[in-house]
Amino acid sequence: MKRTKKIVLPESEIPKQWYNIAADMPNKAKPLLNPQTKVPVTPQEMEGLFAKALVEQEFSSERWHDIPEEVLDLYKIYRPTPLVRATALEKALDTPAKIYFKNESVSPVGSHKLNSAIPQAYYNHIQGITNITTETGAGQWGSAMSIACKQFGMDLNVFMVKQSYEAKPYRKIVMNSYGAAVHASPSNITEYGRKMLSEDPGCRGSLGIAISEAVEMAVTKPNTRYTLGSVLDHVLLHQTIIGLEAEKQMEFAGEYPDKIIACFGGGSNFSGISFPFLRHRFTSPAGSKKALVEFIAAEPAACPKLTKGVLEYDFGDTAGMTPLIPMYTLGHDFAPDQIHAAGLRYHGGGRLVSQLKADGFINSVAVEQTETFNAGLLFARTEGIIPAPESCHAIAVTIREALKAREAGRSEVILFNLSGHGLLDMAAYDEYL
Ligand SMILES: *Cc1c(COP(=O)(O)O)cnc(C)c1O
Repeated sequence: MKRTKKIVLPESEIPKQWYNIAADMPNKAKPLLNPQTKVPVTPQEMEGLFAKALVEQEFSSERWHDIPEEVLDLYKIYRPTPLVRATALEKALDTPAKIYFKNESVSPVGSHKLNSAIPQAYYNHIQGITNITTETGAGQWGSAMSIACKQFGMDLNVFMVKQSYEAKPYRKIVMNSYGAAVHASPSNITEYGRKMLSEDPGCRGSLGIAISEAVEMAVTKPNTRYTLGSVLDHVLLHQTIIGLEAEKQMEFAGEYPDKIIACFGGGSNFSGISFPFLRHRFTSPAGSKKALVEFIAAEPAACPKLTKGVLEYDFGDTAGMTPLIPMYTLGHDFAPDQIHAAGLRYHGGGRLVSQLKADGFINSVAVEQTETFNAGLLFARTEGIIPAPESCHAIAVTIREALKAREAGRSEVILFNLSGHGLLDMAAYDEYL
């Protein structure tokens, strides 16, 4: 029988709503707290920093949220993304498991980040905001916001960790090409940046410092708001477009996944592919196929927040400026080793995923960097796509599971999310090879 390689949904099949898992979780996640008063943060407190509609989403318990027409139009530049059967990888592993991957690398920036950048820019724009700030580590989120802001005619200031600014010049050029202003952080255009530089002129920067600079600019510059690319509930909400499409595509393939795997940085691509399938676990009879699906977050061994962290209130940034978040964390001052998967170096797991992990709905595994690059190269040499170093973690865990299935002589269906391609990460591959 001829097997289908790729399932491409027609444009008309793009989901028209995002799914909010907060509506269905058996135990609600605890609230964010104001670090001074230890009282739950109010929407009003957050509206100085984020667009009003995004704050509403952050506090919402509505199950479905309509995707605005303008956002759908921009999604159509690259969505629906393909669901691909990794037949060549299956063959190389000689496994009875069927492996599918959702290919989010086809977006113009090469990752899933645009799924949230577009609505975040849109909601700011319709509120009349004209300036956006953000930070970026490796440059993927900054690139996505650059495209999205340009589409809605807004100015964007990106604070990029100086270390990456110097090591990854192409990402900066991508952002400049879309019209964004990119500052090496610490910079001399914010008070916090100048303070850092006066204390240590050679400072290489950190995500924590870059967040602090972006937040400072957002609250001091007129008509300006800040945006964040992961961790928060509204970001995870936007990313559910991945899983909602995948659900339709699996149905076309006549399959239902037994295992769903994604890499885990702040949780946005993992939640994006998982939450729409997880919702059926809450409502399906115990022991039924939909209730038995396993969800696995693939973390770097250098930053295993879900696997080795503790569940407690912690800051979202290094400087301790954000609200306190109830999450699995390695501590906001945790400094992971310099691994190539810079997008996975965040210290905490966000509140929704953390609650679901505590309640036993989600598993996690930590993988060493060498195993991830081996997996990425096998994937490149079989399926033809060079994966982002972050995505290599999902592939490594997929390969582990496919080999277990071979040992056990068990046929099963594995779905993983290919969060991005690695064509701007050639230096990392070079070093590995
Ligand atoms: C940012 C990024 C990640 C990690 O972020 P999550 O919020 O955990 O998804 C993973 N893969 C790629 C390609 C990224 O750009």
